[in-house]
Amino acid sequence: MNYKNQISNISEILRENDISPSLQRIQIYKYLLENHTHPNVDTIYKALVDSIPTLSKTTVYNTLKLFQSKGLVSVLTIDENEARFDINTHVHGHFKCINCGKIFDFEVQDIIINPKIKQENKIIDEQLYIKGFCKECLSEE
Ligand SMILES: [Zn+2]
Ligand SMILES: [Zn+2]
Repeated sequence: MNYKNQISNISEILRENDISPSLQRIQIYKYLLENHTHPNVDTIYKALVDSIPTLSKTTVYNTLKLFQSKGLVSVLTIDENEARFDINTHVHGHFKCINCGKIFDFEVQDIIINPKIKQENKIIDEQLYIKGFCKECLSEE
């Protein structure tokens, strides 16, 4: 599904996942689609409150939790202080720059773990986090 289709189909996507597509939910989902920056609750709230004056941080938080419970977003805990939200729920790694704070995606084949873990347990979330200095920060030195 291409990006334009995704935008116009947000209410459908939500309905398919048993979520009633309120304006606020649609806007939050749209924001995540358009901003692959792994935003936190605060960032999403600040970006949307001008166009949705009735929005509260609690609504943003609850909506994200709802999306998460339906597998529509994944939650990153790479940041010690705050949850970050990611609409890309395919397995991929995250690099966090400890200088500028930017978090970006990178492709991974499969996170290599002991196969026994997968046979004996049910895995619902796999995360690969790497921290360091990004190339932009390195080139400024
Ligand atoms: Zn950086
Ligand atoms: Zn990501």
